[in-house]
Amino acid sequence: MEKLLASYDPSNGELLGEIQVTEAAQIGEMVARAHAAGREWRRLAVAERVALLEKAYAQLEPHLDELAVLLSREMGKDIRRATGEVSGTAYGGIYIAQSAMAALKNTDLGSGTLIEYKPLGVAAVISPWNYPLAMANNLIVPALVAGNAVVFKPSEETPLIAQAFVEHLNRVLPENLLQIVYGDAEQGQAVVESDVNIVAFTGSQTTGKQIMKTAAGQLKRLVMELGGNDPMIVMQDANLESAARFAVASSFENAGQMCVSTERIYVHEMIAEKFEQRVAELASAYKVGPWDMPGVNIGPIINETQHGKIVEHIRDAEAKGARLLLGGSKQQTPYIQPTVIADMTPAMLMEQGETFGPVVAISRYSDIEEAIRRANDSTYGLGAVVYGGKEADAVADQLEAGMIGVNQGIGGAGDAPWVGAKQSGFGFHGSPEGHRQFAQVRVVSR
Ligand code: NAD
Repeated sequence: MEKLLASYDPSNGELLGEIQVTEAAQIGEMVARAHAAGREWRRLAVAERVALLEKAYAQLEPHLDELAVLLSREMGKDIRRATGEVSGTAYGGIYIAQSAMAALKNTDLGSGTLIEYKPLGVAAVISPWNYPLAMANNLIVPALVAGNAVVFKPSEETPLIAQAFVEHLNRVLPENLLQIVYGDAEQGQAVVESDVNIVAFTGSQTTGKQIMKTAAGQLKRLVMELGGNDPMIVMQDANLESAARFAVASSFENAGQMCVSTERIYVHEMIAEKFEQRVAELASAYKVGPWDMPGVNIGPIINETQHGKIVEHIRDAEAKGARLLLGGSKQQTPYIQPTVIADMTPAMLMEQGETFGPVVAISRYSDIEEAIRRANDSTYGLGAVVYGGKEADAVADQLEAGMIGVNQGIGGAGDAPWVGAKQSGFGFHGSPEGHRQFAQVRVVSR
């Protein structure tokens, strides 16, 4: 019997649409068709592939506004942020294609030795719901430029925006080169088990581990962009206003549903009271509501399970003696009012794991070594930030994360790799190294 995947507006539960779930039995055939399409695609020169991709991405341009509304309605983020993600995807796609083309040029080592970057075959791109277009786009484009076909498995929470995106591109791209599998973990697992050559995954640590196990049988290539529980250290001589502004903006961005949102803050005891007050004050100005409410900063939480997990983390902190500066565990679905917690301890869930909501927890320190130890005491290692004076660089040097910000957020300029340390994963979004993940490196000596 036909199974349907329903998509709802998280702000009011309205049914937005239904899509037929891809039967696990069909996935093998889809991947076989992808291999055939890939064999044709790789006959084109890289520049020809990029030219076709540019033409395909131009198809998105007249539809940016409607795509942004669909993204807002399906995922819940406000229209300003959705517009940013949609245009970043449309124009960023072209930028990524060009930078991938440059990264995939043969390297001549001299003495007749050449390094070549050949296609792997079929790339599976499995994506989360929090940035449903951006996260997929970062991996789909370099995979295609490298001459692979792609099987894309979007999150079960955001199938409609994925469908619209791929339909526009497929008006130009060759048939079966970019296909979508609709469904949840069952379909994701079937994709990993199928005859794909690389799995480029963005999502939670738990799913990443599951995928690694499934992929081990055939030793499939993996890209793993997993979760985070990003720390921030605010030193005694930090610019308190800049630090507080960054802390609030980073903790509540995308309703805190962001892999690199600041989740735990270690602040020097001498400035802690002022800092806590300022964070709570700035956070209290944040407006919570649906995507089309004027001035809204914090949208709904994606689903009840995630909402329940956030409330559980706040409740756990309250039960273990945290001081509540703003918000708290009394929350009505689907929203979480901005919540600021002081006196976080290592025993609290907030310190231990990813909360993934508009909540920030603060802890005071007297000894910087203690702050560094607690910042690093995590299986995660995605981003980490330090605000401070001349010793800030020395502290940053000791932080165990893939992306570090000193007196600013993480990320940096240009085509920097997006990368995790420890169990936040391995591999990259973006950067020449990232683009080359989708190629088989060959050394040819003549
Ligand atoms: P998730 O791991 O639950 O799901 C991600 C995708 O994996 C979905 O498409 C899902 O259907 C699929 N999936 C689930 N089980 C599977 C399995 N066994 N085999 C194959 N596929 C499977 O994550 P989510 O809730 O969609 O996203 C939130 C998580 O993603 C957070 O942990 C967040 O930090 C992380 N994230 C990380 C980055 C990064 O760049 N590091 C970016 C965005 C989100």
